[in-house]
Amino acid sequence: MKSLKELLENDYLNELKNCKDSAAASDLASQNPSPQVKCPLCLDRGIILKDDVAYPCSCMQQKKMENQFRHARMARGLLNCRFENFRQNYYRSSYSEDRSYLESALKALNASQEFVHACENDTHGLGILFTGPVGSGKTFLAAAIANALMEQDKSVLFLVVPDLLDELRATYKSQSNELDLLDSAREIPILILDDLGAHNYTEWTRNRIYSILNYRLNEELPTVITSNLSLGEMEEYLGARTTSRIIQSCRIFRISVEQDIRLSIYKEREKK
Ligand SMILES: [Zn+2]
Repeated sequence: MKSLKELLENDYLNELKNCKDSAAASDLASQNPSPQVKCPLCLDRGIILKDDVAYPCSCMQQKKMENQFRHARMARGLLNCRFENFRQNYYRSSYSEDRSYLESALKALNASQEFVHACENDTHGLGILFTGPVGSGKTFLAAAIANALMEQDKSVLFLVVPDLLDELRATYKSQSNELDLLDSAREIPILILDDLGAHNYTEWTRNRIYSILNYRLNEELPTVITSNLSLGEMEEYLGARTTSRIIQSCRIFRISVEQDIRLSIYKEREKK
């Protein structure tokens, strides 16, 4: 299995190679534009010459976002999770006087935006723990935070905990790449841990998660965590010392819904 660092290095090397290739290709293309050229404005050079002055082409911004997104390891479907797409109507109760779901969701949204805002000046400080049942929009907010931070050019790593556990287990025997992933999770300025839930933790994976969170707490590196566990359950699954690190390093917001948001989306879609 390839480590995160290897993947990043490969990406980087491929990009270098593509740059060279496309520079050579666009020399040809300028005489004879080929259908393989992706950007007709700059012929994939990345720059546009105007009166002998070079300007970056608009395709570079798009490319940069795509690279950041890949480096953050986020799933494609999360690209559209944006604060402005946050749908308050999923949090309305059928008892119209009950605003508790909506109020707690708005508090969580507000805290997420404050967090992004605070990171503009300094990426050190408290993180956020979103707790609540499956389908209450926790991952949406975590992904919206990640997207907003990447737009600020911040380094973000988005790890889905069950996948992280698989990777840690896979490296358990080989011992070779484990350190790379752990180092990245410890040292990245902003880490998102999505779905820190009721999984099959071994003593060994539990210790790894503790070491990530403990390091980040000591270095004041914020972590955004989503979990459907209560703090009591978290203690059961992850142990008291990890839970205590999370409480020390995160503001905690509980989000609830009357109906799983995915089910609401499904119903909307099928009505059309
Ligand atoms: Zn271009």
